[in-house]
Amino acid sequence: MPKRVKCPYCGYSMPIFYYERSVCRGIKLKCKGRKCGKEFEIKIKDGDQIK
Ligand SMILES: [Zn+2]
Repeated sequence: MPKRVKCPYCGYSMPIFYYERSVCRGIKLKCKGRKCGKEFEIKIKDGDQIK
């Protein structure tokens, strides 16, 4: 089952999915949460999002 990327600031679930074996760093995006809108980097290691 894929997991969804969450904003580390407000916890909003972004419409971006990752899988058990995903590795990710260096990609920045802006939170779509209504009152948040902060930029954060997606860091995924061993299938878990780290902050
Ligand atoms: Zn947010």
